[in-house]
Amino acid sequence: MDMRGLHFRLYLLFLLFTIVIVFVIGILQFANMKNNIETTLKENLMETGRSISSAYGSEAYLATIRSALNNGEYRVRTMTEHGDILVDTNQMSVYLQWPEIELNREELRESLNTSPGYFFVSLEDPEETEWVVYGQVLANWNGVREVLLVTMNTNSMKQELRHQMISLAQVACVIILAAFFICWLLTKQFLKPIEEITRRAELLAAGDYSVTFPRGSYTEIDTLAEVLDQSVQEFANYEQNRRNMIANVSHDMRTPLTMIKAYAEMIQTISGDNPQKRNEHLDVIISQSDKLSDFINATLVLSRFQAKLVELERTRFALDALVMEYILKLQMIHQEDYTFLLELDEDCMIHADYMRVEEVVNNLVSNAMKYGDGRVCVRVCREHNGIRLEIIDYGKGIPQDKLHLIWTRHYMVNPYAKDGGNSGVGLSIVKEIADLHGIEYGVESLPGEETRFWFLFPEA
Ligand code: ADP
Repeated sequence: MDMRGLHFRLYLLFLLFTIVIVFVIGILQFANMKNNIETTLKENLMETGRSISSAYGSEAYLATIRSALNNGEYRVRTMTEHGDILVDTNQMSVYLQWPEIELNREELRESLNTSPGYFFVSLEDPEETEWVVYGQVLANWNGVREVLLVTMNTNSMKQELRHQMISLAQVACVIILAAFFICWLLTKQFLKPIEEITRRAELLAAGDYSVTFPRGSYTEIDTLAEVLDQSVQEFANYEQNRRNMIANVSHDMRTPLTMIKAYAEMIQTISGDNPQKRNEHLDVIISQSDKLSDFINATLVLSRFQAKLVELERTRFALDALVMEYILKLQMIHQEDYTFLLELDEDCMIHADYMRVEEVVNNLVSNAMKYGDGRVCVRVCREHNGIRLEIIDYGKGIPQDKLHLIWTRHYMVNPYAKDGGNSGVGLSIVKEIADLHGIEYGVESLPGEETRFWFLFPEA
């Protein structure tokens, strides 16, 4: 048995608890028994004393004393308070001698003076037998009291007590023996759900993500099972994502790498001597290298976000100014191919990370350029609940049932239509930035008409 195990410890605790309870009840019971036996002894002595005293002065007096003696257990004596013996059992029976115990005069008087008409004292004879003496005043002769003393030794009382203790000990032993078994059963029952959860957790550790954790035992165990079930789900998702990511990353990297290799070989074998062809091929190599590098960078950025390594550097700035500056730069490069429409309210102040917000605008405007019809509209407007940023394009859009998926890493509505360095990472980064800022955001799309990405910043 594992001494550090919950099973053993719990078993030991239950057992100790039972033993302590039995022990305490035993002591209380013993005290009670002792008390009862003592009380009975005193009551008997008193009853005998009373029956003798009620016969005092009558003819039946000595007969009553004798009958008490014949009872076999009592010794009787009457004496004056000065210690002069008047009647003594020694005079009546050879067997029932008054024991070798003496109450001296002072003690006797003291007991009489402080008693309510009768008293009890305990005395020991030279053989160390304990005697309980009952005393009561029989008569008063001109100021001298005559006292009746009835005594009995405690041997029979002790014997009785011993018998009762043996019975008590026997009962205690039976209870403790039963406790050995009952505690074992209780512990086993108590730990059953924990053992079951452990067994299933071992399956999980071995990679079985189909495992579920049982409920219905204790509230705490149900909570644990619920948390573990969620963890299993997380593990399963994580594992699935990991596989997807490896598949996507290798796929996305293989395409530009194949192109780079193919065009390098073409330069080596075909176009090396033809400057025009060679430059065309070199352009392809350079653009594919850029794609690869962009992809790796985006993936690294996303990993940093997901590992919670990115911290925001918030400042207060005008969102409309950021958009204006960004679009002006873009217009200079793409003046001929795209039309940029701006609808900007003035001084739309927000408290956010400038660089990250610019990254959001960059990602969404790039998508609008990639997937739209050449017109890109950016709106920044002040609303009653904050500053709203919208990036709108008028391209083929995103089907309704795919809208919730586009924020997922490496998700592409049409993964084979690769013409602009797509990687399915951009919107995942946008989502991470928006979540980190704690703002509301969303997308609405009417395929073939317009697609609108929106963000709602609190006004600073
Ligand atoms: P990427 O554009 O590099 O593929 P994103 O994460 O930016 O990666 O976008 C994920 C997918 O969402 C895209 O592949 C595309 O299918 C879809 N998408 C994003 N923006 C738009 C848009 N404005 N119009 C249509 N589809 C879009």
